[in-house]
Amino acid sequence: MRKRWTGIYTIKFNTTMEMQYRVSQVEPFVGLEELRNLQEVIKNKWLTEGPFSREFLELIKEFTGAKYALLANNGTLALFLGLLALEIGPGDEVIVPDFTFNASASTIAFTGAKPVFVDVDQNNFNIDVKRIQDSITPKTTAIMPVHVYGQACDMSGILEVATRNRLKVIEDAAQGYGVFYKKKHVGTIGDVGIISFFADKTVTSGEGAVLLTDNVHIYEKLKLLRNQGRPNSGTFIHPALGMNFRMTDLQCAVGVEQLKKFKTIETIKIRNYNLYKDSLANVDEVSFIEEVVHSNFVPFRACIKLEHLEDLLGYLENNGVQTRRFFYPLHRQPCFASLGYKTEAFPVSNELYLSGLCLPLHCGLSQEDIRYVCKLIQEFRKK
Ligand SMILES: *Cc1c(COP(=O)(O)O)cnc(C)c1O
Repeated sequence: MRKRWTGIYTIKFNTTMEMQYRVSQVEPFVGLEELRNLQEVIKNKWLTEGPFSREFLELIKEFTGAKYALLANNGTLALFLGLLALEIGPGDEVIVPDFTFNASASTIAFTGAKPVFVDVDQNNFNIDVKRIQDSITPKTTAIMPVHVYGQACDMSGILEVATRNRLKVIEDAAQGYGVFYKKKHVGTIGDVGIISFFADKTVTSGEGAVLLTDNVHIYEKLKLLRNQGRPNSGTFIHPALGMNFRMTDLQCAVGVEQLKKFKTIETIKIRNYNLYKDSLANVDEVSFIEEVVHSNFVPFRACIKLEHLEDLLGYLENNGVQTRRFFYPLHRQPCFASLGYKTEAFPVSNELYLSGLCLPLHCGLSQEDIRYVCKLIQEFRKK
């Protein structure tokens, strides 16, 4: 066990990653509290959705203010399920930012619909609302805003375009736990939204996700789709077609503790982030994400932009710091080559890819770790 600068003890797991790197990119903030809950699940012998799943959902509903919430195996399948519940399918086009994780668009493609990429804002990296209208065609049926790196998209702008064009809105808030657009939690503003609990997200259950909606019809559809086309387990009569998108109580047992730790996680991440900002303030070449007024900020990573990215990546890696670049623009993804997009049409997402670096921000970092990373960046610049 190692003491963290919060004074909270967590168990140190010796993964290969950590032995390789002095400073790893991600490390979930899990410890004895999660372990205690896992032991309880094993003692109860109730492994699939049960008491912890119910508690997990209740805590999420209370925190986000969503009227209805349903679990899914992961964020990707939750997005797919949300699209199915909105009846998105062949012949439809769905607007999605060009700068996001591939799953935002692959789930659209899996419904048979076509993902339509829109460039993003160069300062806050979220979808550029001004560019949405030009991408709308008679086939467009939905918009999928993605709240990236810890801040909300301009949701009133998006809802305005959506209403004007009669489009559905499905929010990818995979990275957005704890992020509020004005007073509303992300994922609760459109018709349906999802939050992921993957191991590198703000709070985690390993794999897992939640779907949020205020619409009872969407909720009822989701309920059938996720559980074999029946409202409750324990019957072999299936009124509708559905699949299995359930989580386990083991995952939810971890998730429940994580939700309770959210405030601590948020506080540490903000403190770490500010230490990066202070330590790199004198490095002119480095710029940070713009903090928008319509959202709070739960920094996902310490995302910086700078020149000579490739060389710096090598320098940091050679000195034991695990690096990660920004997203690869969707229009350049080999799996979407057949859509025929031209790189010139996405100047911002290209520039972000070429200059963007995610620095580690997790709760296992000491102040010394962060100062070490910043010192390397300063040294690199002098060379
Ligand atoms: C992580 C992530 C997803 C996918 O969530 P999983 O739980 O990993 O399937 C989707 N969209 C974005 C923006 C993400 O960051």
